Amino acid sequence: MTPLSLQPVSVHCVDLAKSYGPVQAVRDVHLDVAAGQFLALLGPSGCGKTTVLRCIGGFEAPDEGRIQLGARTVASAATWIPPEQRHVGMVFQEYALFPHLSVEENIAFGLTRETQREERIHDMLRLVGLEGVRHRMPHELSGGQQQRVALARALAPRPGVVLLDEPFSNLDAALRGRVRQEVRDILRRAGVTVLFVTHDQEEALSLADQVAVMMEGRIIQVDRPERLYRRPATHQVATFLGEANFLPGKAKGRNVECALGTLDLHDELVGEVELMFRPEDLLLSDQDDGSAEIVDRTYFGHDQLLTVRLDSGTILRSRLVGCCRGLQPGRRVGLRIDTPVMAYPTPYGCPVPAQGPIQPGADTSPVAPKSVRRPHLS
Ligand code: ATP
Repeated sequence: MTPLSLQPVSVHCVDLAKSYGPVQAVRDVHLDVAAGQFLALLGPSGCGKTTVLRCIGGFEAPDEGRIQLGARTVASAATWIPPEQRHVGMVFQEYALFPHLSVEENIAFGLTRETQREERIHDMLRLVGLEGVRHRMPHELSGGQQQRVALARALAPRPGVVLLDEPFSNLDAALRGRVRQEVRDILRRAGVTVLFVTHDQEEALSLADQVAVMMEGRIIQVDRPERLYRRPATHQVATFLGEANFLPGKAKGRNVECALGTLDLHDELVGEVELMFRPEDLLLSDQDDGSAEIVDRTYFGHDQLLTVRLDSGTILRSRLVGCCRGLQPGRRVGLRIDTPVMAYPTPYGCPVPAQGPIQPGADTSPVAPKSVRRPHLS
């Protein structure tokens, strides 16, 4: 048991499918979240993230598949456990605080059978740092404080898993960064399993232990944030996760020939490929006989984005940190990449494996789909 008496549970979704009339919102969803892990479900609007979360919470019934929380099957063709019996805490986008109840009454709301009720409320107030405002009403709180009350209310009944649906989207940009870190710290201290839904890749990469990328109802890739960013499984995932450069090339095992010379590959590959590398991988040097010309420069303060055109007409982007005074539009530059790059068989990366998502630690090389692991549940 953690000091807060929470017992995190694992979450397994197997072959989940859900339609709303003709709209197939979710299909073939496999998800495996270890107890105590913090997983972000990331994807563009309408890809089915909320539907997966609602199925896990018991607010929607899947048409097909199975959901298991710890050792308990909570939804399958033969089983249906209602939301109030799943020991799941839910935090909604709009917090859904009761406007006529004070902070402590909101937190106490789910504690019907708690014997040491007062102590529990006090522990929750301390956990989220709101002891000083326990008697205030929701409208007397800032957005960040309301978020923390919603979190305390979800954690008070000792859930095994907490589900958060776009929890930061109501906050303005200045508050968002701070509240994100606060919420992450609170949830880590609570030691609970967390699934949160977001369409913001920066949010997912900076908060989660694992990120599951979802598109068009399916989970495409599950990985650690760094690996996901460095080694996206498809062209589509690469562009969704941030800026990406693409170049044609010819792979020969661990190397690839392209307009930038011979580069190292993350994975062994042979034949025509499309290379992917991030703007921060592309290094520029001021060079009169260089192979490209700077055509644009956008200055952001801590870094700058330079657009370069190769003599072939191909446009690439380079993100440079610090002051690079000589690098202005019109200058010729030499280009270099010192890190291994990703490659996809042309034209658009490896197809989504029919049998399930690419799992953490799996070799995400497009030529090795057999390394895809699926959860095995008895
Ligand atoms: P967002 O980020 O915009 O909230 P999402 O990725 O969470 O989107 P869902 O809310 O799960 O996506 O919706 C997936 C698809 O199912 C969308 O096409 C949506 O319009 C549709 N959908 C969701 N709920 C319903 C419903 N109750 N009735 C009909 N269609 C629905």
